Amino acid sequence: MPDPLDDARDAIAFIDASPSPYHAVAEAVRRLLAAGFTEIDERDRWSPSVVGGRFLQRGGSLVAWIAREAAVPSSFRIVGAHTDSPNLRVKPQPDIGSAGWRQLGVEVYGGALLNSWLDRDLGLSGRVGVLGERGSEVRLFRDDRALLRIPQLAIHLDREVNHAGLKLNPQQHLTPTWGIGSPDQGGFARYLASQVDADESCIVSWDVMTHDRVGGSLAGVDDELVSSARIDDQLSCWAAVAALVAASAEGRDDGVLPVVALFDHEEVGSASASGAGGPVLSSALERVVRALGGDAEDLDRAVAGSWLVSTDGAHATHPNYPERHDPAHTVALNAGPVLKHNANERYATDASGAAWFEGVCRSAEVPVQHFVSRNDMPCGSTIGPIAATRLGVPTVDVGAPQLAMHSARELCGSADVRWLRLALSACLVG
Ligand code: ZN
Repeated sequence: MPDPLDDARDAIAFIDASPSPYHAVAEAVRRLLAAGFTEIDERDRWSPSVVGGRFLQRGGSLVAWIAREAAVPSSFRIVGAHTDSPNLRVKPQPDIGSAGWRQLGVEVYGGALLNSWLDRDLGLSGRVGVLGERGSEVRLFRDDRALLRIPQLAIHLDREVNHAGLKLNPQQHLTPTWGIGSPDQGGFARYLASQVDADESCIVSWDVMTHDRVGGSLAGVDDELVSSARIDDQLSCWAAVAALVAASAEGRDDGVLPVVALFDHEEVGSASASGAGGPVLSSALERVVRALGGDAEDLDRAVAGSWLVSTDGAHATHPNYPERHDPAHTVALNAGPVLKHNANERYATDASGAAWFEGVCRSAEVPVQHFVSRNDMPCGSTIGPIAATRLGVPTVDVGAPQLAMHSARELCGSADVRWLRLALSACLVG
């Protein structure tokens, strides 16, 4: 009898392994390889090698699928999620300082809750551009030491903060400490060189970001919660990969092709070569159909009969701010995945998609909740409407409920981790 918390523990392990989108893709790849999937390179000719469990990587994005036979698929069941989360990213010339401190210049990535990055011991991770004799390459790196800190101003020097609220200027007040002394020009590149085992003169660029060095954990008096960084949206990435691995173990063969797409850059609008607004998924679907002998007509027919489940964090009703939520749409933790609705298409869910998702979840005995935002508050968005516009695939927006979205540390329900995996598993074959 499996422990019902095993899913939560495994999701925490996935997120802990994924301080950056590139690491999230690497962890997804590690799990797919262990399940027998093999990589396909976008630069190669695909025909006829798309059969089986396959995946491609593009930067912080990944597309994986299971083609069980060398026949044109009748439709796709696609689960989408995003690998990126708001954080702080190191600038190109970051070696700065003030008042006898060495500091690193950072940019804010996405809609971060800035206060959540204060007084937290921060590690660094990402990828480093290395220029060698045979051209350029990127190398992953991760350093979990307490390298950085953004110390909050002491209350004695900011007596009004608890009344007036904390105001942070992102240029002025978010620069982390990195050490003591005067700014060491080139010091950051030298540090990276030691991290990726390269000569300092070869370090020419980086996509490096901060992470909370404290890993995720079960939380709450009865372990009914998960406390972790990047629940939005690496929890969905974990569930999508777990669902695809489970689907690969099933012998089902009805022409329906299960697909998982993990996108980068959702937090900054998805408009990039590896984002949901780019061609990475549409091109993969098209190439799979062509490699299996299909033509444009076959692709259009398959797309028309497909479903895309855009999976991203949903807002649970906050116990301290219930008035910020629509009173008729309370969303509870550990009560199942949330269908997200918005009449103005900030979410892609419509009656037809909602009915399909409800049906799939009902047959899998997974409960479903509904979110709609208050009319007097702006609604967030996600990859759903963007991917739907790009692909023309009928789409629903769903996600596990959580609190503290876009904080450096978020909170969700441990039972919802399992509900989400079961729901996505059902969707991939539904
Ligand atoms: Zn998200």
